[in-house]
Amino acid sequence: MSTNNIVEEIKKNISLFQKETEKEETGKVIEVGDGIARLSGLSKCQASEMIEFGSGEETTYGLALNLEEETIGCVLLGEYRHIKEGDTVKRTNRILSVPVGDELVGRVVNPLGQAIDGGKEIKTGKFAPIEKIAPGVMTREPVTQPLQTGIKAIDALIPIGRGQRELIIGDRQTGKTAVAIDAIINQKGKDIICVYVAVGQKESKVARIVAKLKEAGAMEYTIVVVAGASQPAAMSYIAPYSGVAMAEYFMDKGKDVLCVYDDLTKQAWAYREISLLLRRPPGREAYPGDVFYLHSRLLERSCRRNQESGGGSITALPIIETQAGDISAYIPTNVISITDGQIFLETDLFYKGIRPALNVGVSVSRVGGAAQIKPMKKVAGKLKLAMAQFREMEAFAQFSSDLDAETKNQIDLGQRLAEVLKQPQYEPVSVSQQVAVIYAVSNGFASAVAVKDMKEWENGLHAFLEKSKGVLLAKLEAGEWDEKVEAELKDACGQFKS
Ligand code: ATP
Ligand code: MG
Repeated sequence: MSTNNIVEEIKKNISLFQKETEKEETGKVIEVGDGIARLSGLSKCQASEMIEFGSGEETTYGLALNLEEETIGCVLLGEYRHIKEGDTVKRTNRILSVPVGDELVGRVVNPLGQAIDGGKEIKTGKFAPIEKIAPGVMTREPVTQPLQTGIKAIDALIPIGRGQRELIIGDRQTGKTAVAIDAIINQKGKDIICVYVAVGQKESKVARIVAKLKEAGAMEYTIVVVAGASQPAAMSYIAPYSGVAMAEYFMDKGKDVLCVYDDLTKQAWAYREISLLLRRPPGREAYPGDVFYLHSRLLERSCRRNQESGGGSITALPIIETQAGDISAYIPTNVISITDGQIFLETDLFYKGIRPALNVGVSVSRVGGAAQIKPMKKVAGKLKLAMAQFREMEAFAQFSSDLDAETKNQIDLGQRLAEVLKQPQYEPVSVSQQVAVIYAVSNGFASAVAVKDMKEWENGLHAFLEKSKGVLLAKLEAGEWDEKVEAELKDACGQFKS
C-alpha cells in the first residue's frame, strides 16, 4: 500500500468518526445483604427492570421489586459477595427477559436461560420478558384434546386436557414428581414440547431426573429449568415465570406444551423470604398480601388458544407439597382455587402399596372429561361406578364368607380393578392398552384370576394385543368406538382368556 493510500484511508476513517455519547442512569448501593440490595439514585427505574451490579466478569444482575420514594429494593440474581455499600449500579432499561427458542429444547438451564448442563452456550437471539399478561378470554377456546399421561388411574378417572391446569398435591415422598415425570415421558412422539421447572430442589435430585429423562429419550423434546436449593431465593421466585416464558414461545407458534412446576410451595417460600427482607408487610402465615397473585398470574398463562390466535396450548401441572395431608392450608387452598382440578396423593395409600397413591375420592378434573377420547369415556364411566361401590364395601371384604353373592362380586371386581390401576414408575401405558385392560377387567374377563396374579395377567394381555391385535389397538388409539369395535374388543379379550 502506498503512502497516499494510507493517508486516504486515515482521512476516510476520520470523516466517518462520530463521537457517541451514551446516557446512562446510575445509582449507588445503600445496603446489601441476604440476597437483596437497596439502591438510591435510580429515579426512573421501572418495576421488574434488570439492574447491573459490577462489570466484566463480576457482573451480577438485580431485579427491581420495590420502587419507593427515595430508594429501590431489588433482589440479586446471583453471587453478591463482591457487591459493597457505595458501589455504583447501572440501569439496563430491560425488563427481566430470558432467551427463548428451539435451541433451548434438550437443555438444562438456570432461570436466566443460561446453560448449566456443561453444553455449549445457548444463543437464540430471541428474548421474551418473564412476566407477561395472560392471553385474553376472546383468544381462548375450550379444552377438547386429551393430554395422555400414560398413567391408567389418571387418564381414566381424572383425565387432563391440553390447556388445562391440574394440580398435583400431596405430602412429601408420595410420588408427586413421579407422576409429572411419567407424564413427560409419555409425550414421546406426540409432538408436545415439555418444560420441567425444578424449584428449590436439591441439585442431585434434579440430576437424577434429567438422567431418567435422557434414558427414556424424553430430553429430545424437553427443557429443564433449575433453580437449585443452594441458589438465592430470587432464582426460585423467577424460575416458574422463566419456564412459562419459554413455553409461550412454542404456544405462540401453535404448538402444544406441557409445563411442570415442581414445586410451587418452594416458590411461595422464596417469595415470602424476599418480601420479608424487602420489608413488605407480612400477612397470614407471614406471606405477603399478594401471594395469591404470585401463583394466579403464573397459572393463568396456561390455556388453549383458539384457531385465530394460532391454536397452541400450555397445559400446567403445578405441584404443591402439603403438611400431614392438610389441603386446607393457605397455599394449597390458593392453588386449588386457581387450577381446574387436583390429583391428591396420600402417604397412607403409598405405604399400602397403592402406587400411584391416588386418592380417587378427593381428586377431580373439572374439564378433562370433555377431552377424553370416546372409548376411554365409555370404559371409564363403568370403572368409576365400580370403584365407588368397591370403596363403600371394602370394609366388609374381610368377612367375605358371610356376604351375599352380589356384594362379593362387587368386591372381587373392585379388588381386581384397584390392582390394575397400580402402576410402576417410568412405565406409561398407551391409551388403547388402557382401554383394553379396563374393559377386560370390568367386564369380568379377569374374574378367575387371583388378585396377586393380576399384574402378570395384565402384562400378558398387553403383549397379546400388541402381537396379534394391532389393527384394533390403532382403532382405539384413534378414538373409534361403536358396536363393531366393542365387539372386536370383546372378542379379543375372550381369545386372550382362553
Ligand atoms: P418429594 O416430596 O421429596 O418431592 P415426591 O412426592 O415428589 O417427593 P417422588 O420423589 O416422586 O415423590 O417419589 C418418592 C419415591 O417413591 C421415589 O423413590 C419413587 O421412586 C417412588 N415411587 C413413586 N411413584 C412410584 C410408583 N408408581 N411405583 C413405585 N415407586 C414409586
Ligand atoms: Mg418431588
